[in-house]
Amino acid sequence: MQDWNALSDEAFRAAARDFIETHCPAHIRRGEEHVRWEQSQGWYRAMAAHGWLAPGWPVAHGGMGLKQAKHLIYLEEWARAGISRVMEQGVLNVGPVLLAHGTPEQVAHYLPKIISAEHLWCQGFSEPGAGSDLAALRTEARIEGDAFIINGHKIWTSGAVDANHIFVLARTDKSVRKQAGISFILVDMRQPGVTVKPIVTINGDAEFAEVFLDDVRAPVANLVGGLNNGWKVAQSLLGFERVWAGSPHMGRQAMDRLVRVAKLAGRDRDPVTLDRIAQLQIDLADNAEMYERLAQEIRAGHSFGFEVSTLKIVATETYARITELTLEVAGERGGLGGEVPFTDGTPDLLRDYLTARAPMIYGGTVQVHRNILAKRVLGLPS
Ligand SMILES: Cc1cc2nc3c(=O)[nH]c(=O)nc-3n(C[C@H](O)[C@H](O)[C@H](O)COP(=O)(O)OP(=O)(O)OC[C@H]3O[C@@H](n4cnc5c(N)ncnc54)[C@H](O)[C@@H]3O)c2cc1C
Repeated sequence: MQDWNALSDEAFRAAARDFIETHCPAHIRRGEEHVRWEQSQGWYRAMAAHGWLAPGWPVAHGGMGLKQAKHLIYLEEWARAGISRVMEQGVLNVGPVLLAHGTPEQVAHYLPKIISAEHLWCQGFSEPGAGSDLAALRTEARIEGDAFIINGHKIWTSGAVDANHIFVLARTDKSVRKQAGISFILVDMRQPGVTVKPIVTINGDAEFAEVFLDDVRAPVANLVGGLNNGWKVAQSLLGFERVWAGSPHMGRQAMDRLVRVAKLAGRDRDPVTLDRIAQLQIDLADNAEMYERLAQEIRAGHSFGFEVSTLKIVATETYARITELTLEVAGERGGLGGEVPFTDGTPDLLRDYLTARAPMIYGGTVQVHRNILAKRVLGLPS
């Protein structure tokens, strides 16, 4: 059994890169865009077969047992290759949550089925009227005998169209403070009462769906972390992968495209355009520097705090602004949907621009992260 942590960082990076280059097909390398299971399952199964699917899980459960420093390198290599997210909820959230809060039976039952792709998970947190204010959620679960009966309406559920399991936050006590009456429940979607209604996003992806739960059943044994303890369990999902949202990888790929488009559009000698590109390059360099500082803390095994919110804001907004300038520089061709007839390629610039809106929303909107900084770092009144 390979001890990945024993390798030097350079050797591990080379091994990760080699694995990716050998096994990751081009159609999975679509950056922020969503890829459906039909297209991504070959890559998922290749990662599972070679032991590269669950980097942060213990080896005993089919993971790589990577320490955070090495895990970060793997994520960086994913970014370098532009790999899209592929049904990652089981690996990223369900596994770690069950290892931290689940019963031995839950761990033994669910983890192998994530590795084998028998269970494909989605995250049922957000609801109409409960996104940023998640604790306002109205989905209810009541206990009848040995089962929860769940009723509610989830929305923006990524991957729900392909998933067969969903982990939900549901209200199990209405008489207490809203965060205190929520439970975290694992639900099999293959039953009557679960209706998945796809939502096509502004960039044309069938990225997410509404999920309607009408008298849906889940065994009481599917409760994770204790009754009415779901808020705490959900908070623990926000692991160190949050750092990822602050990496400059999205911005770098967008910047490469901006520079290329400026040349193709004949704007690469225009001083105003050059000045604006330079400004964005400086912002991107700031983002890279902030990310690297945090990465160093992680490599040194230190904990980190609210700087993650700063990074998230800087990274996602810089990325979005680069795609905005790209459209502008492309002139009238930038406003066209579909592939744009530039001379040395056919980039879909409008799609890039639209795709760049999403990271400013998921994982907590940039406005909500600004609130966090205002309250917790600057100590401003709410
Ligand atoms: C690509 C994508 C994938 C997603 N995947 C999932 C998923 O798999 N599962 C899931 O459960 N959810 C998912 N979400 C939902 C996401 O978590 C929510 O969209 C997000 O939390 C914002 O909630 P909302 O859409 O209800 O917006 P709202 O909370 O209604 O916010 C609307 C606007 O008001 C602003 N706002 C709200 N409250 C405040 C405040 N207090 N101060 C200042 N401004 C405020 C927000 O910043 C935003 O601009 C996904 C979203 C996206 C874009």
